[in-house]
Amino acid sequence: MPTNRTFTIIKPDAVLDGFTGSMIQQIEDAGFRIVAIKKIKLSPEEAGRFYAVHAARPFFQSLCDHMSSNHIIPMVLEKENAVEDFRTLIGATNPEQAAEGTVRKRFARSIESNAIHGSDSDENAAIESAFFFTDRELNP
Ligand code: ATP
Ligand code: MG
Repeated sequence: MPTNRTFTIIKPDAVLDGFTGSMIQQIEDAGFRIVAIKKIKLSPEEAGRFYAVHAARPFFQSLCDHMSSNHIIPMVLEKENAVEDFRTLIGATNPEQAAEGTVRKRFARSIESNAIHGSDSDENAAIESAFFFTDRELNP
């Protein structure tokens, strides 16, 4: 995975709230190109594997329940400096602390139902992309 890619998920709360189109518009307007995209519903076990790094956190079970509660939209995105620029675009984990105009400030409900995921490193972007997409889908 080159360093100009990141991985994101539009979370169940935002999909249910009908924000998918507006969020993708904001992401494209910010200069990101969609490399791969799908709509999928995870089992609680799959959500647990995706968020395994948070297994010891007190909110882990609730997070996995939320992430498997409805459909999500994983995407691989391409842009120069993708990981860092995308984290800036989505804003702080807690939407109450997110900067004005960020994706989470505009579309998130709460710190848990915070509308969108963004990878925190090139290494994790590659791992997370491979969780949802095949090699062929990642090299269109
Ligand atoms: P993400 O990994 O989804 O991009 P993040 O890197 O900003 O978010 P993490 O610390 O990795 O935040 O937490 C992963 C997810 O767990 C958050 O996006 C949020 O949905 C949930 N979460 C984080 N902190 C809390 C909390 N204190 N209470 C409830 N849920 C939380
Ligand atoms: Mg994170």
